[in-house]
Amino acid sequence: MKKLIVGNWKMNGSLAFNEALLRSVLSGLNANNALAEVAICAPSVFLAQAQSLLSGTACAWGAQDVSAHEQGAYTGEISAAMLHELGCRYVILGHSERRAYHGETNELVAAKAQRALAHGVTPIVCVGESLPEREAGQTEAVVKRQLAAVIHAVGHCTSEIVVAYEPYWAIGTGKTATPEEAQAVHSVIRAQLQAATSHADRVRILYGGSMNAANAASLLGQTDIDGGLIGGASLKADDFLKIIASCPLKA
Ligand code: PEP
Repeated sequence: MKKLIVGNWKMNGSLAFNEALLRSVLSGLNANNALAEVAICAPSVFLAQAQSLLSGTACAWGAQDVSAHEQGAYTGEISAAMLHELGCRYVILGHSERRAYHGETNELVAAKAQRALAHGVTPIVCVGESLPEREAGQTEAVVKRQLAAVIHAVGHCTSEIVVAYEPYWAIGTGKTATPEEAQAVHSVIRAQLQAATSHADRVRILYGGSMNAANAASLLGQTDIDGGLIGGASLKADDFLKIIASCPLKA
């Protein structure tokens, strides 16, 4: 299975910026698109632009959140059906910024994952511990609890999700988990998936947290790291392309 490299643009970009960024990414991708599967997750207002610029290319696109509801009186929300219509292959769910700033619970994240899958959009389920939790030795328990809620909700569709391990303390801070620290948590996640589905080998487990051109190769070289979720570095075409180029030839 090829590695999967996903850019999380967060609340950044403009029509002009996105167009320049995507054109640079696409021209670089033509050279090494065999190395990895690639996607970007843009703010919802730019998804139509992503659809128009990326259709038929080697770069898929997705959103950064979705409503847990099907449709109706939920002002400000965006449904999974809408994402599907805009050609989204992925939606990031349970990002630590949404858990921290929008009070998203494990159960809400699970309900969103169910809704996304029902509309053919692949959830990228983010899990990860805070620094105090890591220091208290709770990393495994926290991550397992977050993932268990999603597995419980989606049942036999567990093999259809993507998981992203993102230690909160490494996001946007320049601090990265060492490859060994990340691998240790990824292997716990793999075991949890194996207990839940006979197709756990199909589930990609991405690492996210200050991945950049310099540290990508050592992280992506770990057995259970199947790709990366890239924040800051996905806004610079050169850096994003270098991360893609760091994927081992035989994943
Ligand atoms: C993220 O937001 O998912 C992320 C990993 O951010 P950064 O790469 O900037 O740490």
